[in-house]
Amino acid sequence: MSRFFHTRYANLKPYVPGEQPRERTYVKLNTNESPFPPSPRAVEAARREAERLQLYSDPTAKFLHECFAALIGVDPGEVMATNGSDEILYFAFMAFCGKDRPAVFPDITYGFYPVFANLLGIPYTEIPLRADFTVDVDALCQTPGTVFLANPNAPTGIAIPPREIERILRAHPNDVVVIDEAYVDFGAESCVPLIRQYENLLVTQTFSKSRSMAGARLGFGIAQASLINDLQTIRNSINPYNVNRMTMAAGIGAIEDETYTRKNCEIIVQNREYCTHALQKLGFTVIPSQANFLFVRHPAIGGSALYSALRERGILVRHFDAPRLTDYNRITIGSRAEIDALLAAIQTISEVNI
Ligand code: PMP
Repeated sequence: MSRFFHTRYANLKPYVPGEQPRERTYVKLNTNESPFPPSPRAVEAARREAERLQLYSDPTAKFLHECFAALIGVDPGEVMATNGSDEILYFAFMAFCGKDRPAVFPDITYGFYPVFANLLGIPYTEIPLRADFTVDVDALCQTPGTVFLANPNAPTGIAIPPREIERILRAHPNDVVVIDEAYVDFGAESCVPLIRQYENLLVTQTFSKSRSMAGARLGFGIAQASLINDLQTIRNSINPYNVNRMTMAAGIGAIEDETYTRKNCEIIVQNREYCTHALQKLGFTVIPSQANFLFVRHPAIGGSALYSALRERGILVRHFDAPRLTDYNRITIGSRAEIDALLAAIQTISEVNI
């Protein structure tokens, strides 16, 4: 830390992203990316847009908003595009939390929530997940503050139905409830239709997972226009050009190729079921997932030991060194070939350990 860094950040612990190694090629099952390339239409649109990079991007993201709103069945004024969904989450912390309005989220969830809260000096309450890793909806209902809930949750993959979310929305009439649907396209039910009824609901989604665009950085907020306008005020006070031209074009290309997205999601769901059964046969505990990853525990090999043994064999998964998570690893659902490579490596590691 330099002597110029403000003391308010002295204890700030930044988010630690999953490894993106460059030194060798891994079977990369650690950051929940898609094993498929982006839609050819997205790629071609971005390529064409590259020729106009001398111009700023449209700060109103008009065409992108219109396309995305039509896709999900809302008005263009009810969506806002951001630089990945991390950015809309950050804007939500800025817009709807403060010293007098804490944040509330589960103790085991997306690791960025406490980072944003700490960065902005926002107090927060962490609601412990139950022993089976499900979200304690009653406790969320009873705790005052702006709610942040990943649904499906990370790193567990467990989703709760919209009627449970409605209980939280009704229990928090004077707070915003943010439902982070980064992984919703792999089998969970979206809360987007609920924005009609609930003025306090903000749904966030991303093109990083189901649309294979993690590197383009495109996310969305979806809510009634009054909440979107608040978020626009924040965005326009930070960076009105937050989504770049190539990403906007690629996003529109991806939306125009929805069949490609749906087909890829179906394959991921099939691969998830295949991987679940195969890991269970190998003795693993597999948390039932509705996301593009599995959270798994081996009966004999510790989480960290399995992570290292897989890494040595060229396979990257994600291990979280935290009390209730340390026995587990989070494994992204890759292609069939990647899953087979993972299973073969686990088989060998188990034999060595017996
Ligand atoms: N929410 C959750 C639960 C996530 O796991 C992620 C991915 N790390 C994000 C949001 C943010 O994704 P992105 O910024 O790529 O849209």
